[in-house]
Amino acid sequence: MKRIRTAILVVAAVTTASCATSPTGRDQLTLFSPAAMQDMGAAAFNDIKAETPAAGAFLNRYVECVANPIVGVLPGRGSQGWEVRVFDRDEPNAFALPGGKIGVYKGLLDVTETQDQLAAVIGHEIGHVLARHGNERMSGQFMVQTGMAAAAALTRSRESPERRRLMAVLGLGAQVGVLLPYSRSHETEADRMGLELMARAGFDPRASVDLWRNMARTAGRQPVEFLSTHPGHETRIRALQSGMAAAMDLYRQARAEGRAPACDG
Ligand SMILES: [Zn+2]
Repeated sequence: MKRIRTAILVVAAVTTASCATSPTGRDQLTLFSPAAMQDMGAAAFNDIKAETPAAGAFLNRYVECVANPIVGVLPGRGSQGWEVRVFDRDEPNAFALPGGKIGVYKGLLDVTETQDQLAAVIGHEIGHVLARHGNERMSGQFMVQTGMAAAAALTRSRESPERRRLMAVLGLGAQVGVLLPYSRSHETEADRMGLELMARAGFDPRASVDLWRNMARTAGRQPVEFLSTHPGHETRIRALQSGMAAAMDLYRQARAEGRAPACDG
């Protein structure tokens, strides 16, 4: 009975199907309603919180100090109700989920040397959410007949393959050991959006280049979300640098308007 109800919910979600355009102008297929994506994001976040110890209030406050100004420049209601949790895990990893959930592994804070570098990661992850990459990936899965099972995973046991697949399409592959990286176009789009978001929040966008260099040096072969598709570090850095002049304009404007986050030291 529960599975039938889930199937009805999924069909209801899919009837709102639409062909959308991403924030950077890419055509995308997004079959699931924003409400359905928010529910799935919140459920996945609860699962992770239940399984993974928190790193504590001190680190959480630091990451909130960086995340809040970025969330604050999101358009409309996008800035409301975001939740940040730092997890006690050593891998340098982070993620953001529909429904306003941001997760950071404390190992990331060993790689990010400054608030601005951390802002580059958080901006990138929020970029994935704003550009509906999770929805797009779930829609792709749905089109190959596994979307139903993926959505049904919400009502099934923790360890089911369907649940692992759902987590993976939401961008949490590294958390559950399923290798399903974002595509290169998603990574590039998240980089572009992250650069703009961090600059508008008053973080120095040039730190994004330092961050990716650090990541390339220290992350090695771990299943880290933002390195998973290897757009090629130099390619990635060139793309960031090509958007840097515009980002610096936004950054200077933000500083002139008093947006100057001070989270370090
Ligand atoms: Zn990414």
